[in-house]
Amino acid sequence: MEQVIVIGAGPCGLSAAVALQREGLSPLVIEKSCIVNAIYLYPTYLQFFSTPELLEIGGYPFSTPHEKPYRQEALVYYREVARREQLRINSYEEVVSIEPIDTGFNVHTADQFGKKKVYTAKKVVVATGYFDHPNMLGIPGEDLPKTTHYYKEAHPYSGTKVAIIGGNNSAVDAAMDLLRVGAEVTVIYRGKDFSANIKPWVRPLFESMVNKGRIQMWFNSQVEQIDEHSILVRKENEHVTLDNDFVLALTGFRPDRELLTSLGVGFHEETNAPSINPETMETSIPGLYVAGVVASSKYAANEIFIETGRMHGLAITKHIVSTNTLQSS
Ligand code: FAD
Repeated sequence: MEQVIVIGAGPCGLSAAVALQREGLSPLVIEKSCIVNAIYLYPTYLQFFSTPELLEIGGYPFSTPHEKPYRQEALVYYREVARREQLRINSYEEVVSIEPIDTGFNVHTADQFGKKKVYTAKKVVVATGYFDHPNMLGIPGEDLPKTTHYYKEAHPYSGTKVAIIGGNNSAVDAAMDLLRVGAEVTVIYRGKDFSANIKPWVRPLFESMVNKGRIQMWFNSQVEQIDEHSILVRKENEHVTLDNDFVLALTGFRPDRELLTSLGVGFHEETNAPSINPETMETSIPGLYVAGVVASSKYAANEIFIETGRMHGLAITKHIVSTNTLQSS
């Protein structure tokens, strides 16, 4: 029997695993993809908005010559932490269900070839993040191959007409990138003004490109339909058809709560955040904890990020150790 299983090897799951490891609990981390898969899927050349010390886990210094680290540096950093702590990580194995039993939980998994396994654990930490579940637009054409919710890099869009849906950092960064490769960029945003969340060092540059007409910025606008060579946009009170080659729907992500709901975890009526004890991160099911973005409310996944979610594992470990039932058995 495992003492603790951590589901998800994102920064917050890893942080929890390091804290548990240091208490001698030798957690097993089960990750359906590669470690820190969300960061791997970020735009290739992304620079974090956080300074490196706010991304650190386990007290390992995150050294970089840059004021804010880049994606590739973060991949190295988290990989190294996992290696140095000799964390037990089963990658490319997905947790498909969790079943409560008298002594804890049965955790059912399947690997990428469909091979199934069952682990038994006294405690389970769900740290499954949100990156697999983009906020869908729910409009015709969203499933066309020209539409994506994940932007990687600008080159493939060189010389094409690109509509970016969204007005936050991901949309703004992509627009600035695309401009450099000669794409014709229209940002379609339902807000009535520039978002207050835009990184302060990017905003003046972006605004300047909009003011010069090099990026088209449509406020109070929503894409209603995506067709092969055009999109239909409701702009203010009129409908406009825009020639278009690609659509980047950069509208954020929301956590998947299926594992939690299947176990009967309660959710707050108003915020839709899972009911947890914020001191311990334990859910309404004893022995079942949440760490990282999965603990945020359904509609505001950005309220928890690495800076804050990395602390959850410390609270969880403290609680598990204080209940003092594990080491004695
Ligand atoms: P994730 O990183 O999403 O990790 C969850 C892991 O669980 C994934 O690896 C996933 O594959 C795995 N998983 C999911 N389901 C299962 C399953 N059933 N079985 C097994 N494994 C599973 N935050 C900051 O603090 N600073 C920044 O500067 C910053 N910049 C960002 C830039 C971009 C473009 C984006 C998109 C986000 C940024 N964030 C930033 C937010 C940050 O990425 C997230 O807050 C962070 O990834 C959350 O960590 P997590 O461990 O909770 O979840």
